[in-house]
Amino acid sequence: MLPLYPRSHLPLLPTGLRRIHAGLNPLHDSSTLTSTWPHRAWVAAGSATVLTSLSHAISAAGASHDPINPVLSAIAGYLLSDLATGVYHWAADNYGSASTPFFGPQIAAFQGHHRRPSTITRRSFANNTHALARAVALVAAPLDFAAGGNPSAHSFLAACGFCIMLCQQFHAWAHEGRRGKLPAAVAAMQDAGVLVSRRQHGRHHRRPYNGNYCIVSGAWDGVLDGCRVFEAAEMVIYFRFGVRPRSWGEPTEEWEEEEAASCGG
Ligand SMILES: [Zn+2]
Ligand SMILES: [Zn+2]
Repeated sequence: MLPLYPRSHLPLLPTGLRRIHAGLNPLHDSSTLTSTWPHRAWVAAGSATVLTSLSHAISAAGASHDPINPVLSAIAGYLLSDLATGVYHWAADNYGSASTPFFGPQIAAFQGHHRRPSTITRRSFANNTHALARAVALVAAPLDFAAGGNPSAHSFLAACGFCIMLCQQFHAWAHEGRRGKLPAAVAAMQDAGVLVSRRQHGRHHRRPYNGNYCIVSGAWDGVLDGCRVFEAAEMVIYFRFGVRPRSWGEPTEEWEEEEAASCGG
């Protein structure tokens, strides 16, 4: 197996990156799959932000006697959250590295996920969701404050924030090896296309590793892949900045599942 960076450099990495390296190698340190109190605190902050937006949406909708537009806005928030996860996942899979400022740990985590996709199913809930819960708390809370008494804006933020915060849990469910191990309601929502299914996300983990990036519902995958939106963006970035995406090359070990690669699969 090829490490994400030379093992000889590991002692030189900052503590955070050493923990991420260990986290991507759960057999080396299974403690990185468990939740810590800071993880739980960020999930609590993200949940409080979503619930605050929801309560503002309900009270503002009641005051305006307009339930339709807030419901439509919530649906828009749900749909756009799927698009946002697809764009972010595509960018992390294709550009940057573990040493990229600010985003490096998440880029390394996405790369490590391709090597060991089932690890995500063993992460405890707050461990898996805290990073995006923190993003929701820091971004959506001020936006909710700025939304004033607009019920549609509050409901959009509540739905979009909820789905962004939980998208890594949806992603984990899409990696569950056996359908019977999923909660019945989750399996039903995957079957209905409300949540990204195991079959659809499974295509992201097979050659040519350049599609099916969305991890909320997967509703945008057909549009993004069918219209070659990411391929067009990759061409623009290449001709403008000379940077090639990782998906252009022949798939290397970093894309393939470690267990499958070691079996020659
Ligand atoms: Zn990926
Ligand atoms: Zn995955």
